[in-house]
Amino acid sequence: MNTALPRKELFDLPDGLIYLDGNSLGPLPRSVAATVSRVVTEQWGTQLIRGWNQSRWMQQPGRVGDIVAGLLGAPDGSVMMGDTLSIKVFQALAASLPLRPDRRVILSDTGNFPTDLYMAQGLVESLGQGHELRVVEPEAVEAAIDDSVAVVMLTHVDYRTGRLHDMDGITALTHQVGAISLWDLAHSAGAVPLDLTATGCEYAVGCTYKYLNGGPGSPAFIYVRPDMIELTRPALAGWMGHAAPFAFDPRYQPAMSIERMRVGTQPVIQTSALEAALEVWEGVDMQDIRDASIQLSERFIKEVEARCPELRLASPRAAAQRGSQVSFAHEHGYAVMQALIDAGVIGDFRAPDIMRFGFTPLYLDEDDVIRAASILQEILADRRWDEPRYRVVNAVT
Ligand SMILES: *Cc1c(COP(=O)(O)O)cnc(C)c1O
Repeated sequence: MNTALPRKELFDLPDGLIYLDGNSLGPLPRSVAATVSRVVTEQWGTQLIRGWNQSRWMQQPGRVGDIVAGLLGAPDGSVMMGDTLSIKVFQALAASLPLRPDRRVILSDTGNFPTDLYMAQGLVESLGQGHELRVVEPEAVEAAIDDSVAVVMLTHVDYRTGRLHDMDGITALTHQVGAISLWDLAHSAGAVPLDLTATGCEYAVGCTYKYLNGGPGSPAFIYVRPDMIELTRPALAGWMGHAAPFAFDPRYQPAMSIERMRVGTQPVIQTSALEAALEVWEGVDMQDIRDASIQLSERFIKEVEARCPELRLASPRAAAQRGSQVSFAHEHGYAVMQALIDAGVIGDFRAPDIMRFGFTPLYLDEDDVIRAASILQEILADRRWDEPRYRVVNAVT
């Protein structure tokens, strides 16, 4: 059975390549190049500064935010684009702590992406108010949620293993103890169905260059629950988030809308690339994506386990507990992955021994998955990975 949604033709992928790394950098949607070229030549080139009004660059971060909101199960006016995910993590965390002034604990887990933890560490140090970043094992998060916790900051899908947290359950527990719930959706947006309104978390953040295919360096997003917007103090009080940026008031006054989460000038060209990339989601039901992604990943696990007994599944076996990626561990995972990439199957590697494969049904089908498993089998069987050139570690793995 072919599980591909009829969207493959919307992407510009090199012939013969099997791309299993859309969880790290999504491929190029066909609509993007023409849009970017038009923005550069017609808008920037011809309109120059007038582009801010004529092409509505000023409204772009909120306009694109509304499109992203649709994929997060969030209402219009609750999502703002801009900056990088690291900055959005800082912004959301810095907004959360003053909301619980009598508490000092930021709770997170060892499955979180390091930058999220680093941003928390940096914030704690800058505040100098005795906050503590408490990092527990992913399985211990629920038990660690108590009334010392100001904010529970977790990444929904573990970047190494694909393990999925129970977002609704953990948010409910968080609220039971009176803490703030902050979710990082870097590996969830565009991969799994989300309903932020039903989840009820105060804040969520994520990037757009993974499953949302916005291109390298595309802007991040921040969601603020609508009733929290006016209570959210922007620690990064930039002029674009001011109530009236062009009043040039020396005193900061935040906008009374999600606009207050803007900081400075957005990358207009990259945000335009993202806006064009988001067209591939028109008419797509995230539940169809999820169903197809599970079929593809189940098939991949079955094929790999049958063909490559030396690999150990590093992701949860139950599909309901995984995001849209599958990881296998191998002692020489880095070298095996380099040989695999050389053979036209692109995945990636995360230390110490994890080979990651992302499944994006928009442009992958069951034939791709079977072919990828068969090439992986060949590489392991003839030990091609054992060539010295596959052990040279690149800057980006
Ligand atoms: C990809 C990823 C990031 C990357 O942050 P940038 O600021 O965009 O470089 C951060 N956190 C998580 C959980 C991620 O998966």
